[in-house]
Amino acid sequence: MRALSEQDIRTSFVNCSKGEAKRLPLPRDMEELPWDDLDFLGWRDLSAPDRSYIVTERRGELVGITLRFPSQSRGFLHRSMCSVCLTTHPGNGVSLMTARKRGQAGRDGNSVGIYICTDLDCSLYVRGKKLPASGRRFEESLTVEEQIGRTRDKLAAFLDTLSA
Ligand SMILES: [Zn+2]
Repeated sequence: MRALSEQDIRTSFVNCSKGEAKRLPLPRDMEELPWDDLDFLGWRDLSAPDRSYIVTERRGELVGITLRFPSQSRGFLHRSMCSVCLTTHPGNGVSLMTARKRGQAGRDGNSVGIYICTDLDCSLYVRGKKLPASGRRFEESLTVEEQIGRTRDKLAAFLDTLSA
């Protein structure tokens, strides 16, 4: 994805208030992020450890979402495979994160969940730029390009459920 500015990120959020989007902490060292290798930008909120954020492009527009995840004791070991990049992780490498739906449905308290790499580095796992703690990712018959396409499709499908 293209390198984003602070303004790009703050105006992309679709499932939180404008005030929240203005205050949330941005990823560190943004100039140094491997933008060319990212299908989406994902980061944890270091001041609120149950929160994380994802910004990606969808149909030519930036879409940012805020996510929450339960304490590790509850989320622990429910599933070890990320549903976005299909990387298997030991321990708490995968978390069930929930995102508030867009619009009124979200304000009414409705949310949807997704099992995703806790560090949100799916893009890097798919490209072999980062390895899970187990030291290897399972062999896939798909090419890296195909896996990248699948990763984007999976995330897009999740984003669609926020407005469904
Ligand atoms: Zn993943």
